[in-house]
Amino acid sequence: MTKISLDQNKCIGCNTCPLMDPETFEMDTTIYKAKIKKQPTEITDAVKSAIEACPVGAITIDEN
Ligand code: SF4
Repeated sequence: MTKISLDQNKCIGCNTCPLMDPETFEMDTTIYKAKIKKQPTEITDAVKSAIEACPVGAITIDEN
């Protein structure tokens, strides 16, 4: 199953991923870092755009 991960140690809280795909990502406003709101059932264009737009490469796709 394909799953995505978001490394909060890398995240700089730029708010880009929730803007690109608000169904999948949201900001954790207590620490001002993004987190996964809901695992996507497939890697949609919106998910891909968010991954590509992240300036620090914090979002990755895990294949297993
Ligand atoms: S795009 Fe990357 S750095 Fe920006 S909020 Fe999302 S995970 Fe964090």
